[in-house]
Amino acid sequence: MQRESMLRRTRERREPWDIAIIGGGATGVGVAVDAASRGFDVILVEAHDFGKGTSSRSTKLVHGGVRYLEQGNIPLVMSALKERGLLRQNAPHLVHDLAFVVPNYSWWEAPFYGIGLKLYDLLAGKYGFGASKLLTREETLERLPALEPEELRGGVVYYDGQFDDARLLIHLAMTAADQGATLLNYCPATGLLLGEDGYISGLTVRDSETGEELRIPARIVVNATGVFTDSVRRMADPAADQLVVTSQGIHLVFDHSFLKSETALMVPRTSDGRVLFVIPWHGHTVAGTTDTPVDAPSLEPRALDEEIDFILETAARYLTRPPRREDVLAVYVGLRPLVKGEGKTSTLSRDHVIHVDSSGLLTITGGKWTTYRHMAEDCVDHAITLGRLRDEPCRTRALHIHGYIDALDEPLHEDEPLAIYGADADAIRAIAAAEPALAAHLHPDLPYIGAEIVWAAREEMARTVEDALARRTRALFLNAGAAAAMAEPAARLLARELGRDDAWVTAQISEFRALARQYTVEAD
Ligand SMILES: Cc1cc2nc3c(=O)[nH]c(=O)nc-3n(C[C@H](O)[C@H](O)[C@H](O)COP(=O)(O)OP(=O)(O)OC[C@H]3O[C@@H](n4cnc5c(N)ncnc54)[C@H](O)[C@@H]3O)c2cc1C
Repeated sequence: MQRESMLRRTRERREPWDIAIIGGGATGVGVAVDAASRGFDVILVEAHDFGKGTSSRSTKLVHGGVRYLEQGNIPLVMSALKERGLLRQNAPHLVHDLAFVVPNYSWWEAPFYGIGLKLYDLLAGKYGFGASKLLTREETLERLPALEPEELRGGVVYYDGQFDDARLLIHLAMTAADQGATLLNYCPATGLLLGEDGYISGLTVRDSETGEELRIPARIVVNATGVFTDSVRRMADPAADQLVVTSQGIHLVFDHSFLKSETALMVPRTSDGRVLFVIPWHGHTVAGTTDTPVDAPSLEPRALDEEIDFILETAARYLTRPPRREDVLAVYVGLRPLVKGEGKTSTLSRDHVIHVDSSGLLTITGGKWTTYRHMAEDCVDHAITLGRLRDEPCRTRALHIHGYIDALDEPLHEDEPLAIYGADADAIRAIAAAEPALAAHLHPDLPYIGAEIVWAAREEMARTVEDALARRTRALFLNAGAAAAMAEPAARLLARELGRDDAWVTAQISEFRALARQYTVEAD
């Protein structure tokens, strides 16, 4: 993917695009993959970087959602379990199985969760990831040696999937590009074009790097802007009612030694009635999440002190070594686009919604990362009807995602350097081989090497230090202090690749360090 050639294609296009998509998160990029693989002419514009919004800030689970089972939302769970299976099949380099243990401290928990998780297995059917089973106290502690042993009776183990959300997003963007789609980051939609018939006939965007304005005529415009959904709808109709409410969820990241295991801990009912996960991820421990209503969406939401304390306190009840504020290597915050309804945000609909405004703007929102493919299929089916496009069938059920490696007979070893790039790993190794300085780690606490930054600039449309350290690698999300220290070498590598000067390097370093401070937690 190269931004300059994407821009050129956009400028040169005279014909209307079949489908223009606003928003480069899981939802929008999923729609781009679906529509392009059906043979449509597709353009996607993202205001910031691909995945800057919620889609890089998830709990990293490809899951049916045990909690939705408890809420009785069987269709959502079944659909998500099926999508979980399809995603592992189409992106084995990015999705792997993860065992979760629900520890039991009361007599009733083993039968209660044991039966519930058997139902979960059953609903997965042929898409199952492994059978759940009851564990003795010893087996539970064997799997989770860091678990609080006092009054522990046993546990239940079940299986779900885990992924790297931003990496999947970039590989989906590359899949869309491989299928012929045009994708632009740093190009916010600034307005919607209305035809003489009153229906939307395209959009305008601005290239934030140069200020250039571009007109994009399109038969159908899809609004996939997550928590920003209503602001885009109001570009066409300033009186549009509110469709989406926002709630935020935070995660704290610690050293691996807090969990000391490749099995995750699942706390099914926290003091506020939610689920808390403590999971191993990229050699670290991630704990989350919360559910706090938010008035207005923002691109960089902040964690509240009470959210941080809540996760620390809940984790401390279950771990032998209670994590403290000074142990937090990074905190990240994501905003859920929830379809408006009655009740607490944790019970609002996690199903996706497709909404058509009187202007013909097609909005898709809600849902989960896990169900992005199904959401995209549904959205493009609607786009075909609404835009009277030719009736092409969906092709994504068996479409390999960029980086797919055939005959992956070994399970993904997270600690194997570059495994997550799948088929692209060899090209990154070749960059490092050609210039051995690029094989060196950019920071001793993280596995990332210079060649990954060069690759990100050359092939993955990384434009800034933040793109390279937050979403092409996950340095910022794993260890904000280490990421801040990587800013300088990363900026110099990007400047060399993108032809930027020293002033750009200095500005990038200071911008990124300011951002990294927001991902840290002040010690007591
Ligand atoms: C805390 C948390 C944990 C989660 N964990 C999981 C999980 O483990 N598993 C799971 O399956 N799901 C999970 N989810 C849900 C999942 O992350 C979301 O459903 C999904 O990421 C939403 O993607 P999206 O594309 O709709 O929104 P976003 O990723 O927010 O994308 C919207 C994009 O639109 C762009 N945009 C906005 N305005 C404009 C404009 N004018 N022009 C161009 N672009 C614009 C934004 O910059 C943004 O990048 C979690 C959600 C949260 C909040």
